[in-house]
Order: sequence, then C-alpha cells, then structure tokens
Amino acid sequence: MGKIIVIGAGPAGMMAAIAASEKGADVSLLESNEKAGKKLFITGKGRCNLTNDCPTDEFFSHVVSNPKFLFSSVYSFDHDEVKKFFEENGCQLKTERAERVFPVSDKSADVISALERKLKKNGVKFIKNCRVSGLLREAVRPDGDLPSELDVSDKMEKKKKLQYKYRVKGVLLENGEKLYSDAVIVATGGVSYPVTGSDGNFFRLLTTFGHSIKTLRPALVPLVIKDENCRKMQGLALKNISIELKYGKKLISKGFGELLFTHFGISGPLIFTASSEYSRKYGGVSRMLDENNAIKKDHSKKFDKSNDFGHNENVCVSGETADLYIDLKPAVKAEELEKRIIREFEANGNKLFKNYIAALVPGKMRDVFPDIAGIDPEKPVNKLTREERQAIVRNLKGMHFVVSGTRDFNEAIITSGGVNVKEVDPHTMESKLAKGLFFAGEMLDVDAYTGGFNLQIAWSTGHAAGVAAAEPPAELSSENNN
Ligand SMILES: Cc1cc2nc3c(=O)[nH]c(=O)nc-3n(C[C@H](O)[C@H](O)[C@H](O)COP(=O)(O)OP(=O)(O)OC[C@H]3O[C@@H](n4cnc5c(N)ncnc54)[C@H](O)[C@@H]3O)c2cc1C
Repeated sequence: MGKIIVIGAGPAGMMAAIAASEKGADVSLLESNEKAGKKLFITGKGRCNLTNDCPTDEFFSHVVSNPKFLFSSVYSFDHDEVKKFFEENGCQLKTERAERVFPVSDKSADVISALERKLKKNGVKFIKNCRVSGLLREAVRPDGDLPSELDVSDKMEKKKKLQYKYRVKGVLLENGEKLYSDAVIVATGGVSYPVTGSDGNFFRLLTTFGHSIKTLRPALVPLVIKDENCRKMQGLALKNISIELKYGKKLISKGFGELLFTHFGISGPLIFTASSEYSRKYGGVSRMLDENNAIKKDHSKKFDKSNDFGHNENVCVSGETADLYIDLKPAVKAEELEKRIIREFEANGNKLFKNYIAALVPGKMRDVFPDIAGIDPEKPVNKLTREERQAIVRNLKGMHFVVSGTRDFNEAIITSGGVNVKEVDPHTMESKLAKGLFFAGEMLDVDAYTGGFNLQIAWSTGHAAGVAAAEPPAELSSENNN
C-alpha cells in the first residue's frame, strides 16, 4: 500500500494510477497539461485504435524494440484484459480490419472518459497544470557525502558519481513545492508530438540516477525523398502496392498496402512500418537534451534545414540513404507484365506513349512516369524499343526512390529509444538503480508498429507498474521499517 505519485496523465500514467488505486494505494496523478490524455485524444485520427485483438503470442511480432521485455507485463494485462477494462467502464468496443480495436462510438474522447471515470471512482487525486521538475531521493547506501534528500535537478548533484543506489521519496514541482511518496511512477512519454506534452523533459533527469537513455529517434514517421518527380505526385495515394526498403543489398523492410506521396516524400501506414526499421537501424534524426533538459536538434547528426523544396524546416536527413522500390503491380510477374504490354502496344499502334500511360499508372503518376522510365512521351507505343519496354516493366515492378531521412518528431507517431530496459525490472517496471522509481509507457525503449500495439504497451506497462508500486517487495518493506 502506501502513497504513490504518478507523473503524466497519458494512457500509461492513467492506467498505472488506476491499477495502484485498485490495490488500495493513495494515488496522486500529476499532469503538466490542463487535462488528461492530450495525445490519446488524437490517436487513430480521433478514433483511438486502443489495442489489437491478435493472439497475445502474436503481439510480440509487432513490437520493434525489446519485445521480450514486454512478455510479463503484456501476458499479465493483455488485449482481452484491456477490452474488459474499457467495456466495464462504459466504453463499448468493436474490432475492425487487421484486428484493430476501436470504441464503438469512433470517439477517442470516450476512451479518455472511461479512464477518468475509473480514476474518480477509485479516489485518485488528479492534479492538472502540475509540472514535475525533479525527483526527491535518498541514498540507500549513503557513502557519506550524499545528503539524505536531494533535488536531482541541482547542478552539484549532476556532477556526483552515479554509483549510489537511491530510493525515491517523492517529487519536486516546478513551483518549488515538494510532494512525498513511497513510490513514483514516471509515465511522461517519449518526444514525439511534443505539442501534446510529451517533450522528453524527464530523460536527462533520469541519467542522474545512472539510467542510460537509448537514442531517441522518430518512428512511425513519414520518409523524406528529395526527388522532384516524387514531389510532383503529392496527393497521390496508391493502394494494393508492395514496397521494399533496402540498404545496399540488405532488405530493411517490405510490405503490402497503401502509401501516399507528399510534398516532402512519402507517408501512409506501409511507410510508417518501414520507417520504424529505417529509424532503428540506419538513422532517422536523433535528438539530445540540452542543459535545461529541453530537447535540441542534434546538428552533429546531420540535421538538414536546407529546405530543398522551399517549404519548411522539418525535413531531417540522417545521412544514411536507403533505396525504396515500389511494386505497382504486385499480383503480376514481370514476364507476364511485359507480354501484356507487348500485346497492348501492338493493339494500340500509333498511340503516343503519353496517351497510353493512363492504362499503366494512376493519376498524377502519368505526368512523371515517362521521365522516371526515361521514355519520350511523344513516341508512338509501337516504336518503343525492347529496352524501353523493359524500362517500363522495371519501373512498374520496382519504381526506385532514394530515401534520405525521416520527418521530425513533430510528425512521428512514436519515439523509438528511451529508458534502457536492461535497467528496468520487466515484471514490475521498477528501476534497478533506484528503489521506488517505476516507469511506464513510451518513455521506455519499446516501440511497435501501427495497429493498436503502442497503446497496448502503455496499458500493460502502466498496469504492471501500478500493481507493483502498490505492493512493494518484502525487501523494501523491511528496509522501510529500519
Ligand atoms: C497522431 C498520433 C496517433 C496515434 N495513434 C495511435 C493509435 O491509434 N493506436 C496506438 O496504439 N498508438 C497510437 N499512437 C501512439 C500512442 O499515442 C502513444 O504510444 C501513447 O500515447 C504513449 O502513452 P504514454 O502514456 O506513455 O505517453 P503520453 O501519451 O505521451 O503521455 C505522457 C504525459 O505525460 C505528461 N508529462 C510529460 N512531462 C511531464 C512533467 N514533467 N510533469 C507532468 N506531466 C508531464 C504529458 O503532458 C503527457 O500528458 C499515436 C500517436 C500519435 C502522435
């Protein structure tokens, strides 16, 4: 039991607060925004894809970073438990294509209301407009020079060596107030969509406990392609196509589905999945934290403001390029396609290539396809050479673009990287470096593909942290009695 402070009223923090209060703990939930769940509100385009109905064993294949770390928390509070929780709290759910679960109302606000109702029912103190700026702690094994209570945002403390084991005693608010507790659950999110409140302010602070932070990178994010032809196709959505993203000969990601050409490159569900792999393995832009715990763009990582298309500063270039191949006709083999084209060219005789293209490619691609394939649009189709026909087939089966980076965190659905999970107990979400310090949600170095998996991570890790924080291990209880 005892007193628990949860920092951050996102999905992970709210679920942690509910789980802890369910166990009888006295819980305070502190949120810097004026309301709970600002990011949750915009999830799933306002509909909130809150989990995925696939079997739990399958869930882990949708997790990009550290799936094993999630075994315990996800099996303890899986998609069935999540669905039960929301339906019991007045939010009816439905399952759509690819097992994605949404509220029947299609309103994310109903997901938030269900959480808020339960928080209220359980007597959780919700304090909004309350920004936490530090953690209060004491050394479990004082080595003499540590004061019994520290504000870790203190500059002197930052210089101290980190070999001490700590026990967290509460939080320091931005207004200087101190709140004491037996445990603190940090659920302050990643750094994506910082406008929603998750601006990464806690990562640097945690390094003063000895925690390492795995490089923060945008994931589930549009990809940048600096190619005039790509830009000219902006607005064009392709369906039922397949892609391969390669680094040299190495396949980074492949998939089937939809993509959208934009003014800076490409976006869409298929690209989000590819971006997670690209970001993790080959770059994406990374961000560091400056002296004031604010996130700064890491210029050493080749952040490129060079604004090639003259429109904004959000194009981030990693310096690691990758090759994207789009197969516009995945159901047809190259040889069959060529035979079909030969037949059609014969039937269409003198028709100019530019007038024939509509039979080959969709909308805005028609204007750029001759340039991409290197074919004179004014040439009659029956005059095209064998090489030109093969270039057409090659581009239909693998239109090539060079990916030069990802878009910024402002457009990233999630953050890859975060608190190193090797330093966190996977059963309890408790820090291995500081007693009474727990983590939940996106701030951990775990991330998944789209489909409701990231919110499932937030619910599961939040639940595990809440339960464990409310039931301190015997060892800690006895230490407390000393
Ligand atoms: C546009 C968009 C759509 C998405 N759609 C989906 C979807 O449909 N399905 C899905 O599974 N996932 C989706 N996601 C991802 C999902 O929203 C996140 O993974 C999830 O919100 C992470 O939850 P969290 O509680 O860890 O962090 P957050 O939701 O980021 O919450 C963290 C909270 O902590 C607060 N906070 C931060 N610092 C402090 C501080 N110092 N003091 C007090 N409070 C603080 C913040 O204000 C914030 O409210 C989407 C994300 C975006 C951006």
